Amino acid sequence: HAKTLGKNNFQFFSEELNRIVHDQLLLEASLSRAIRDHEMVLGYQPKVDLRSGKVVGAEALVRWRHPVDGMIAPDRFIPVAEETGLIVPLGEWVIDEACGALKAMGMLGIEDFVISVNLSARQLRQRQFADRLAATLERHGVDPRQLELEVTESQLMDHPDDALAALGELKALGVRLSIDDFGTGYSSLSHLQKFPVDYIKIDRSFLGDVGHDGHLVITRAIIALGHNLKLKVIAEGVETREQLAFLRKHGCDEMQGYYFSPALSKETLQDMVTRDTRLPD
Ligand code: C2E
Ligand code: MG
Ligand code: MG
Ligand code: MG
Repeated sequence: HAKTLGKNNFQFFSEELNRIVHDQLLLEASLSRAIRDHEMVLGYQPKVDLRSGKVVGAEALVRWRHPVDGMIAPDRFIPVAEETGLIVPLGEWVIDEACGALKAMGMLGIEDFVISVNLSARQLRQRQFADRLAATLERHGVDPRQLELEVTESQLMDHPDDALAALGELKALGVRLSIDDFGTGYSSLSHLQKFPVDYIKIDRSFLGDVGHDGHLVITRAIIALGHNLKLKVIAEGVETREQLAFLRKHGCDEMQGYYFSPALSKETLQDMVTRDTRLPD
């Protein structure tokens, strides 16, 4: 009996594996087609300054508007894009699109607005990434200070010395740099001190439910750590009034999350900023 079971198990795993590999190949082929056919769209989630309540920026989040399957979330295709290298053209498209949005907002008279894009370590490692970025900014006539690049702490810490060099080049361009999902990537403090970044973004897992003390102690510690390093601190995934009150009380600089707004179309974002919609006190 054990033997049959073992064999069945093996078959199960090999069929499962086959299916996964097959799906992966399908996804890879359709992903490159999708980029070409303009099926990718950006949503923009507002970022709010906690002192003024003003919308000071937005994070560009990619979605795939699939003609048959509908909207597909990035968690389902970014990992494949990273493995296959398709993240490079996809990421370039995201930056180009975000710069276009900044340009359009500037023409509407919206000044000093910052759009952040998520960067994969694979993009960061590309030769001449900084040169190409500079060319894109120039082509759109966008002030580099209006573009922010978010890289996750764990991706930075995979090759901290390479990351340090790449971030230095980007910093020299004048773009803003941010460490995403902070607290989950095991930074050594010595590296953290060396990275030429402007913001740390507290991973949303630490906000948890406000009743849960352990998490909140970490949130407070991250805010203090950031401020001691002269960095600004933003909290992601803020969903409740209690979380918001906690962040305000402890001097967090900015927030983003469903409590204020999910990701919006470019037009809705522009409208929100033009009307000066604010976070209530
Ligand atoms: P992230 O950069 O940490 O983005 C935050 C994610 O949290 C987004 O999910 C956002 O929609 C979600 N979120 C925002 N507010 C809340 C909230 O209040 N509650 C909860 N539960 N979630 C909230 P999304 O859009 O599904 O993106 C997931 C991840 O995919 C992003 O995590 C980012 O790592 C990656 N990603 C998205 N766009 C890009 C891109 O253009 N390039 C790269 N390389 N990665 C991207
Ligand atoms: Mg991010
Ligand atoms: Mg994040
Ligand atoms: Mg996160």
